[in-house]
Amino acid sequence: MRSGLKRSKSTSRFGHALAAALTRWYLRASPTPRERFAACRVPRPSRLGPYIMRLFHRSPSALAAAALVLAGPIALLHADAQSPRAPVHAQRARTLAIRNATIVDGNGTPARGPADILIEGNRIGRIVFLDPVALKSGTAKRPVADVEIDATGKFVLPGLINAHAHLQNERGKVAQPLDYNLKLWLASGITTVREVGSDSTDLLFRTRDASALGTIASPRLLIYARFSDPAREAATPAEARLRVQQLKQRGADGIKLGGIDRDLMAALLDEARKVNLRVAHHVGVEETNALDDARYGTTSIEHWYGVPDAAVVAGRQAFPSAYNYRDETDRFRWAGRLWREADPVLLGRVLDTMVAAKVAWVPTLDIYEASRDLQRAQTQPWFRDYLHPTLEEYFRPDPANHGSYFLGWSSTDETYWKENYQIWMAALRDFERRGGVIGVGDDAGFIYQMYGFGLIRELELHQEAGFAPLRVIQHATGNNARILGRESDLGRVRAGYLADLIVVNGNPLENLKVLYPTGIDDVRGGRAVHSGGVEWTIKDGITYHGPTLLAEVKEMVTAARQARR
Ligand SMILES: [Zn+2]
Repeated sequence: MRSGLKRSKSTSRFGHALAAALTRWYLRASPTPRERFAACRVPRPSRLGPYIMRLFHRSPSALAAAALVLAGPIALLHADAQSPRAPVHAQRARTLAIRNATIVDGNGTPARGPADILIEGNRIGRIVFLDPVALKSGTAKRPVADVEIDATGKFVLPGLINAHAHLQNERGKVAQPLDYNLKLWLASGITTVREVGSDSTDLLFRTRDASALGTIASPRLLIYARFSDPAREAATPAEARLRVQQLKQRGADGIKLGGIDRDLMAALLDEARKVNLRVAHHVGVEETNALDDARYGTTSIEHWYGVPDAAVVAGRQAFPSAYNYRDETDRFRWAGRLWREADPVLLGRVLDTMVAAKVAWVPTLDIYEASRDLQRAQTQPWFRDYLHPTLEEYFRPDPANHGSYFLGWSSTDETYWKENYQIWMAALRDFERRGGVIGVGDDAGFIYQMYGFGLIRELELHQEAGFAPLRVIQHATGNNARILGRESDLGRVRAGYLADLIVVNGNPLENLKVLYPTGIDDVRGGRAVHSGGVEWTIKDGITYHGPTLLAEVKEMVTAARQARR
């Protein structure tokens, strides 16, 4: 403990015991775990616990004095220097036990529990499944830890991975706090982000490195730097190779590729393989399509266009003569009529070719949802308290903003898009059935999708596409880890893996909506209750309290709105 070092050991130990006892007393004075789980989105006890601990670490003597006056007798009754403490928000304990957890792993196996998960530093040390008989007789051998989370009635999953995301500190050249973006990710249970292209690569590297050191509240970041160089676009295969080498030297974890001609693509992917960089390809309607990704070795296809585009019999979609690809309304309107032009037999062959070449697919279904239901996209309930005014302004239809193509969007457009989704979702099912790897990303910060919330919506859309929730969670954890080349230390609840875990209030296998940081409204015993939400997001062994993060985001948004009045 940082603040404890300067103080005498006995004061420090006494203070610890007192704070722990206070927290325990508070927990006991509150409803039972079951009631707590059922009753509220921000469970008061665990919300207060971190605050007590944080206060204590800032000013231990003040708190100790206050505690003695206010709750001394009760606290002393329970005081025990050996007792574990409640976790502290944004700190890593030496050892942390998550008790009585129901575990959903990232490899598609069914839920199992109860188990105690022991975290040692930033790694998962041991997972001990609890034998009910031994538990009852008190002979169960349970791991000992400095800090404990009681996960009774809760589900523990690997931290979610967002494989297609943008870290943004501005929208439309208007500033937006980086913290807003990062905290929404963490509050949504996201512990790893594959960043696929923002304008300020230096800022990305700095944020990535600070996150790795644990000095900022942030998921771990893998930076897939944009291949496209605004200063000078690569025009020859030699220049494409040079650009890859430069990005490698600058410290990129991978490359994000947009539309590109075939000769440049061949050169860049060959060079990327040589320097060991993975490539995420936003495959547009270009000279190249999904078959080129398979031929030259792209790691993952982002979104979808190039997949049906490779299965159009005529070789090119039947665009109207006035069509202009650079006009976003044209592009999104006619994209809604692309899947229907894909020949089913050819499409099957394209999917097989992708599978054989090990090209994964990160579809980002959520980012096109406004195209099939604009009103839904524009009225999402979390906008009220959590939509930053910068993002709100950016979402307004304006030809100057990317993705704001909805001026004149019609019921006809929405109807085509609904059909488009059905064929797309069927292709995703088919792709996985043929052995393909599907990942999850949200592409938030565009088109009415908020950071974090967008990823949970993406999970719901994977369920709508026909994947069982167990498989959907695998898409967001185990599969994403594979796509990132991190399947040996991320995406699983497994001993030896990095301690990236989430503790969820509720069963996501029954209802993926429990993962929304704002939780869900439910009925229990005839009473309306609010529950759900990610209680703890543990990244690299550091415990982040979901409701605290969300409260901080709300404060940020409120202050920014007031400043603009
Ligand atoms: Zn994107």
